[in-house]
Amino acid sequence: MSPLTLLLFPGALWAGYAAGAHLWGLGSIRRGPRRARRLALTFDDGPDPVNTPKVLALLRDAGVRATFFLVGERAARARELVREMVARGHEVGNHTWSHRNLWTCGPRRTEREISRAHELLGELTGRQPRFFRPPWGMVNLAVFPTLRRLQTPCVLWSVQPEGLRPVAPREMAARVIRRARPGDIVDLHDAEGVRGAPTRLLEALPPMLEGLGAAGYACVPLAELLSDA
Ligand SMILES: [Zn+2]
Repeated sequence: MSPLTLLLFPGALWAGYAAGAHLWGLGSIRRGPRRARRLALTFDDGPDPVNTPKVLALLRDAGVRATFFLVGERAARARELVREMVARGHEVGNHTWSHRNLWTCGPRRTEREISRAHELLGELTGRQPRFFRPPWGMVNLAVFPTLRRLQTPCVLWSVQPEGLRPVAPREMAARVIRRARPGDIVDLHDAEGVRGAPTRLLEALPPMLEGLGAAGYACVPLAELLSDA
């Protein structure tokens, strides 16, 4: 094999394993049915012992139930908070064990990242998580057989008001209200990923909930949004 082939071959394998898997990921859920004026707010990266309780209080005040995609090792350190979420009618989804970018994980590590979080969250909430969301939406070829075994679909989002770049809270709220369509899945963050994300979320959430309510939207957990898909 020429040196160039030696260099290209692993590169091609990796591209197929990581980037190529996104073609398969096209089967992921990105939105719910458009029939009713309903959407799902989803919160990634928690639970955060400081910010998540504040998010729960804001949701309670607005009478809204949502879906939290939890990181297993964080849930292991905040077990009571996870139980409280469920007791309040929120839904818990799997966001891997340690929030590694799955593009950097081999098949065995990928399987472990997903199933370890699945087990713990199942134990804490009394039911297996019904949905999985990969960190940053990045998947690889090992993700889908694992999810099939766990009978758990991969859920991405249709509205993400803040990506990797910080967005001011007012603008974050305005983006969600402006972009919202029936069946949308909104991606928010109640723990640190992007620096300061939870603090901005706490400021954005009240006007966001108010605006969505004024526009006639009911915010429901994912399982409800997708139940009549
Ligand atoms: Zn995340």
